[in-house]
Amino acid sequence: MKLKDSLSELLGNPPRRIPKNEVPVEVFELHGKKKNDKERIAAIHAELAELKEKKPPKVWRRRRWATLIFVNLLFVISYYFDVQLVEGALTASRVVGFHMADLNSALQVMLAFKHVVINLVIGTTTVFIFWWLLGGRTFCSWVCPYHLVAEWAEMLHEKLAAKGIVKDHPFDRRARTWFWVIFAVLAFVTGYTVFEFISPTGILSRALIYGPGLALLWVALLLLFEIFYSRRAWCRYACPIGLTYGFVGAVSPLKVEYHLESCFHEGECRKVCLVPHVLNTVIKGRAQGMHVELGADCTRCGRCVETCPTGSLTYKFKGLGDLL
Ligand code: SF4
Ligand code: SF4
Repeated sequence: MKLKDSLSELLGNPPRRIPKNEVPVEVFELHGKKKNDKERIAAIHAELAELKEKKPPKVWRRRRWATLIFVNLLFVISYYFDVQLVEGALTASRVVGFHMADLNSALQVMLAFKHVVINLVIGTTTVFIFWWLLGGRTFCSWVCPYHLVAEWAEMLHEKLAAKGIVKDHPFDRRARTWFWVIFAVLAFVTGYTVFEFISPTGILSRALIYGPGLALLWVALLLLFEIFYSRRAWCRYACPIGLTYGFVGAVSPLKVEYHLESCFHEGECRKVCLVPHVLNTVIKGRAQGMHVELGADCTRCGRCVETCPTGSLTYKFKGLGDLL
C-alpha cells in the first residue's frame, strides 16, 4: 500500500478505491479464475463451518495477552519489590537506567511546558526506534492495558450483539484526528497535559502500580459505553496515542501482509479486526496487487492472521520474508 494512502486512512479518510487502470493484469485474471473455482469455494465454506464448531485456540491472542500482562506486571513487581529494573509507569519510565517515555505523553508534556525537555528527548528517541521497528500501533495491542480490558468488553459486546440485545453505533473515524489536535492545543494553551487526566492507558497503568483511584470510574464508563453502544469506541474514534503510534510505525519493517492468490473473500478477518478499514484490500476487487502490506492503522494484533481460514494474512518483517 502506498504511504500516502496509508496515512490518509490513518487520519480517518475512507480507503482509496484504485482506478481500474492501476490494477495489475494478473490481479484481474486471478479474480476470473477464482470465480469459477467452485470446488475451492465449497471447501472454504466447509472449513469455516468446521472452525466455528471446533473453536481452535487463538495462538496469537494468547501470545499477545501474555506479553501485555508481562510488560505491565514488570512495572508492578519493580515498584512493590523496589528492584529498580523498571521504574515509573507506561507514560514515563526508566528501564534498567534508560529513560523511556510514551511518545504521545512526551509530546503533550513538551507542548504544555513549551520547551524541549532533554530527558524526554532521550526517552522518546529510544522508544521511537523500538516502536518504529515493531510498527507503532503494536504498542496498542501488545502493551496498552486498556486494550486488554477493552478486548474483554468487546467480547461481551459481540455476545450481546449476536443475541440482538445491543447494536454497534459507528462514528466518523476522523474524530480521532480532531481529538489529537484538540488535546495538543489544550496542552499548549493551558500548560497542563489535559489528556493524561482522561487517558485510560495512563489511568490503568498507574492504578496497577500505585493502587486504584477514582479515575477508574471513568475507565468503567468508557467500557460500558463500548459494551452497550459503540464497539471499541475509545480506540477507534478517540485515542490520540493510537494515532501518534500509527505515524511512528507507518514505514515500519514489520507488517501484516495480504496474499490475494489464496484469499476467497469470505471476510472473517474483517469481522474480528479493531480497525477493519485496513483490511479493505481483502474485499473482492479491491486488492492493488498480488501481495499487499496493510496500512499504518494496523495494530499487528494477529487476530486476522489466526482467523483467516486460507492463511492469506501473514506477519512479514522486511528482509526476512513472511514470518508466519
Ligand atoms: S488506541 Fe489508545 S487506548 Fe486503545 S490500545 Fe491504543 S493506546 Fe491503548
Ligand atoms: S489487520 Fe489484522 S493484525 Fe491488523 S489490527 Fe486488524 S486484525 Fe489486527
